[in-house]
Amino acid sequence: MGASTEAPVETRPVVTRFAPSPTGFLHIGGARTALFNYLFARHHGGRFLLRIEDTDRARSTQPAIDAILDGLAWLGLEGDEPPVFQFARAARHAEVAHQMLAAGHAYKCYATAEELAELREQQRAAKQPLRYDGRWRDRDPAEAPEGAPFVIRLKAEREGETTIHDRVQGAVTVKNAELDDMILLRSDGTPTYMLAVVVDDHDMGVTHVIRGDDHLNNAFRQLGIIRAMGWPEPVYAHVPLIHGADGAKLSKRHGALGVDAYRDDLGILPEALNNYLLRLGWGHGDAEIISRDQAIEWFDLAGVGRSPSRFDLKKLENLNGHYIREADPARLAELIRPRVDALIGRPLGDADMDLLRRAMPVLQPRAKDLAELTGASTFLFRTRPIDVDEAAASLLDTAAIAVLASAEQAIASVAEWNAPALEAAVREVAEAAGLKLGKVAQPLRAALTGRATSPGIFDVLALLGREESLGRLADRLAQTGV
Ligand code: GLU
Repeated sequence: MGASTEAPVETRPVVTRFAPSPTGFLHIGGARTALFNYLFARHHGGRFLLRIEDTDRARSTQPAIDAILDGLAWLGLEGDEPPVFQFARAARHAEVAHQMLAAGHAYKCYATAEELAELREQQRAAKQPLRYDGRWRDRDPAEAPEGAPFVIRLKAEREGETTIHDRVQGAVTVKNAELDDMILLRSDGTPTYMLAVVVDDHDMGVTHVIRGDDHLNNAFRQLGIIRAMGWPEPVYAHVPLIHGADGAKLSKRHGALGVDAYRDDLGILPEALNNYLLRLGWGHGDAEIISRDQAIEWFDLAGVGRSPSRFDLKKLENLNGHYIREADPARLAELIRPRVDALIGRPLGDADMDLLRRAMPVLQPRAKDLAELTGASTFLFRTRPIDVDEAAASLLDTAAIAVLASAEQAIASVAEWNAPALEAAVREVAEAAGLKLGKVAQPLRAALTGRATSPGIFDVLALLGREESLGRLADRLAQTGV
């Protein structure tokens, strides 16, 4: 086609879209596509739209639609307008097919299923590509069998070649002879997916189609329809898919979960997942930690790599740890509240929440996800006498209990209940007994938290407060008969 050798120059205001098929949850590949479309639109002051491609009625479900919209909202990737539902636009798609028919860019094909099966059989036997042979393309419509069902097919260009100047893949060329006259409208009047996508993109004013490179082949077919209609061609950017750390296509085995699982099961913060997905296949120098505002400022298609990116859960966790350290303590306390409730078996009250917020700066540096943050916080809310796990119990041998007894006395006599004063008191006990600080701190930790690991012991004491701390120590000493 004549115009196909020049890269299209887009002068319309930028409109991008994310067009998931609601046959499953929002997976991370989809989330990344949404993010790239969102950032591109924002960078150019354009609009980012959503389209739910629900034409596969058997496989599209409402829970999947809900999960996708919910996942996008959680990631802060909401569309600028309410989502377009593709199935509801079937009449419009059919209208375009009929327009193409009237203009001579499409034709009615009466080939029966048996005929087409036979054709495929012959092509298979002759080791030819399986392609519709255009048997109704140039036939006189007068030959049409009366009242017989027909499909509407695109009268595709047969000569020459089509080149797509893809912003990620570069120039990709296909011989037009390799593209057959695809069906636009089925015999029951329903549109095919290929037609629906093109009509919707056009009607939504989409200027840039950014999506997974598994759709690159479709782009050539879609261009056939766009050119037949004389519509403006979008700029294409087909982004390489995400692979697992082992280089194989990403699957569940690699941790390719729905976005909801990263949030609910792994306890990932949305800003961490956004940052991770951004860096997965796009780069700006060495920058690793990139805020949303910075991403909007920097994002471009030139920064998208051409080779598949590898999913790395460790990297995601590291980023998550970073964002947990940066996060507002009150927000984190609210986020982990239901998790803490579930772990301690009762709902946290106002005073508990206040304590949790105060504890946050002590807990944040040590957690890589919300589950760890939750686990590390539960010592605050145990009920006396607190349970002591095996690892902690092993720290409380007879010698340790004796040390604990002197530590309790020293601690009980501090005038000001704060971390530095408590530290000074405990150090004195250690020195007097000729012990390293750890030899005193470990039994204290075991008795105060019931666990062998916890935040710094003076922070633990400060957070628990005088009464609770001394109570827990007394419980432990009473139980061991000191
Ligand atoms: N609905 C397609 C998918 O979920 C995307 C189609 C497109 O972006 O053009 O893979």
